[in-house]
Amino acid sequence: MTTNLYAAAVQQFDKAARYLDIDPGLAAYLRLPKRELTVNFPVEMDDGSVRVFTGYRVHHSAALGPTKGGLRYHPSVSLDDTRALAMWMTWKCAVLGIPYGGAKGGVVCAPHELSVRELENLTRRYATEISVLMNPQGDIPAPDVGTGEREMAWIMDTYSMHHGYSVPAVVTGKPLAIGGSLGRREATGRGVMLTTLEALKRKRITIKGARIAVQGFGKVGAPAAYLTQERGARIVAVSDAQGGVYHPGGLACRELVRHADQHGTVCGYPGAEPISNADLLQLECDVLMLCALENQITAANAPSVRARIIAEGANGPLTPEADEFLIKKGVFIIPDVLCNGGGVSVSYFEWVQGLQSFFWTEDEINERLRQIMVRGFHQVSRLAHKKRVDNRTASQILAIERVAAAMTQRGIYP
Ligand code: NAD
Repeated sequence: MTTNLYAAAVQQFDKAARYLDIDPGLAAYLRLPKRELTVNFPVEMDDGSVRVFTGYRVHHSAALGPTKGGLRYHPSVSLDDTRALAMWMTWKCAVLGIPYGGAKGGVVCAPHELSVRELENLTRRYATEISVLMNPQGDIPAPDVGTGEREMAWIMDTYSMHHGYSVPAVVTGKPLAIGGSLGRREATGRGVMLTTLEALKRKRITIKGARIAVQGFGKVGAPAAYLTQERGARIVAVSDAQGGVYHPGGLACRELVRHADQHGTVCGYPGAEPISNADLLQLECDVLMLCALENQITAANAPSVRARIIAEGANGPLTPEADEFLIKKGVFIIPDVLCNGGGVSVSYFEWVQGLQSFFWTEDEINERLRQIMVRGFHQVSRLAHKKRVDNRTASQILAIERVAAAMTQRGIYP
């Protein structure tokens, strides 16, 4: 069973590379991260003690532009996971035509067990440690699991303090007040919704009343759920790390967001039945949106999946074995590098706006995002059809081809 994310990412790469005529040397290079940094650093805790934390920042490729990718705060953060997530960022940007390379970072920690002051100390020190790589022209972090606008504000401030002037373009996913972009908060979920609408059309399922189950109700899952509901779908179940709620008639997702904000979980939402995460994945539904973490569907539970479409809001939610099984079963999978690329697209808009100090309207942002997601979806679908491959392989073929072409045209230095 392949649960090592980096091994899974390399396996996907090898599968796609077989369809491409790229130089074996270039292929060998693209299987590896370009550079990786491990930092061990001390943080002063509230009780006066000093605790050592470990963090990473990995750049997979900078062939298409500055490296871009989120920062994860989670106890399971590892160098191998960070490598995989960085590689997927390269393919994500390339497949959507965003002029960035791929990166990822993270700190091994349980953010919910730290006070706000401890988190701020940790974030400012980590930002300083990775500042040998991070800068607005070269490497631009963003939020991921366990981080959000608050952490991005601390990073932007730390970097700016070291430089003596404000540098908003050093991170994206910032609060609006300091140069964040309208639409960024919902962008990843909006992209999940937009690609899901295209997949429903492809499968000739009408959106009105389509039954959707959503695993993970965080920055990606919650907007994906309410935006899809607002297009007419029925969100029959949602879950978070503590459990889930189910209502065959459809949950009121915006109210559920308020409930989750107040109680820290969707559990206990009035009028809905409880459902376990394991059962949610097995619900009979039109779309299963996987918006939590990696490796959620494995060889063990794949045979029980009864969804017709899987939307990968999360990165790597299927193991390679589960992926193969579900493709054979005929499930339409919207692969992560396409499905959740709305976040990096609006991060790119935020960066462009920050560099120009000129800000766009929310309608403009949402419309540009729609164009990127729909174009990406159709380019991947066309290639999948032409080469008779699954959507994931098609998205990687498209991306690898673009990155390899950039590398070939740039040439090998010196
Ligand atoms: P988040 O921390 O805001 O939300 C994660 C959600 O998943 C939470 O509701 C959490 O309770 C839930 N969860 C965790 N473990 C679970 C489990 N075992 N079962 C059910 N739910 C569980 O994180 P996020 O930013 O929403 O990221 C989710 C996924 O989307 C990650 O894979 C991330 O890499 C990916 N992603 C995020 C963005 C972004 O812009 N935030 C962009 C692209 C991809």
